[in-house]
Amino acid sequence: MSERWPVVAIDIGGTKIAGGVVLPGGGVRLARQVPTEAWAGGESVLARAIALAQELRHAALTTPTAGLATQPAAVGIGAAGGVDPESGRIVFATSALPGWQGIALRDRMASALDLPTFADNDGNVMALGEAAHGAGRGYQHVVGLTVGTGVGGGIVLEGRVFHGAWGGAGRIGHLIVAAEGPRPCYCGGQGCLEAYASAPAMLEDFLATVGHGQAGQELGPDIARMDVRELARLAAAGHEAAAAVIDRGARYLGAGIATLLNLLNPAVVVLGGGVVQIGDVYLDAVRQAAAAHALPTVRETPILPAQLGTAANLVGAAVLAWQGLE
Ligand SMILES: [Zn+2]
Repeated sequence: MSERWPVVAIDIGGTKIAGGVVLPGGGVRLARQVPTEAWAGGESVLARAIALAQELRHAALTTPTAGLATQPAAVGIGAAGGVDPESGRIVFATSALPGWQGIALRDRMASALDLPTFADNDGNVMALGEAAHGAGRGYQHVVGLTVGTGVGGGIVLEGRVFHGAWGGAGRIGHLIVAAEGPRPCYCGGQGCLEAYASAPAMLEDFLATVGHGQAGQELGPDIARMDVRELARLAAAGHEAAAAVIDRGARYLGAGIATLLNLLNPAVVVLGGGVVQIGDVYLDAVRQAAAAHALPTVRETPILPAQLGTAANLVGAAVLAWQGLE
C-alpha cells in the first residue's frame, strides 16, 4: 500500500489556493487557504502556492497531532489549467489565470521544497480523490465531474488518472452536447456541455426566459446577481421557469454523462460542485436523462453525489503523490 506517509497537498484555483496535509487514509489536517490573486500573474501565483506548501510542511513537523510531527514525503498539486503529465508544466490556462501558461509548476515546487512533487489538472485530481476515498471508493473505473461555475472532471481507469496520448483526456466540460450550438464556450468552441450545464449557463437561461417579462420584474433588480441556490429555492417554491431551467441543465448534463457511459463504462459516476447541491430534484433529472440516452448495457450505472466536498482536490492531489512515490 502506497499511503504510508503524510503528504502536503495544494489545490490552485482561480480565486483561492487551498492546502492541507493529507494523512494515509485520506484525512486532511491543517487545512488552510490563501487568495490566488490571479491578477498579479503566474509567477506570483506560483510563489503563493510555494509559500503555502512551505508553511504546511513546517506545521506538519511542529504540530503534535496524531499522524503528524513527521516530515511529509511529497507534495501533490491539483491546478486549474492544463498540466502536462510528463513535465508537470502548465500548458494551457484561461484568462482567469493570466500568465499561468508556461509555468513549470511541478519542478519549481519540487526545487523550492526539496521534495518529490506531482501535479495534475484539478478536474483529474478531484476524480482521483473521489475514486480513492470518496463516493467512488472500491471501484477501479470512475468518472468524476464537478458542476459549478464550469463543468470539470476526470477519468480514473484502473485506479489511475487517464491522460490520453499527451494529457488531453478527461476534459468533460467540452463534450459536445449541442452539435449545432449556438452557445459559445470559453474554449472557443460551440455546444460544449459547460456552456449548457454550468451554473452561469443556467442563470443565463433563467434571465433570458424571465428577465424582461413580468416574472423578472417581480424578482426585482437582484435577478442579475442570483446564484444557483436561489434558483433552486425559486424552483422549490413553485416557480415554473426556474424549475424548467434547472431541469434543462440537468438534461444536458445527463446527455453528456450518457456519452461517457457509452464510451468508458465506468463502474460509477461521481458528481460534485455547487450545482449538485441543488439536491435530489436535480440529481434525479440527471439520472433520468443519462438513462434515457445510455445504451442498455450501461444504463444502470450509479450516478452518485460526491462525498469529499471541497477536500476532494486535496485528497486527490495526495493520492497522485502516493501513486507517484510507488
Ligand atoms: Zn468548450
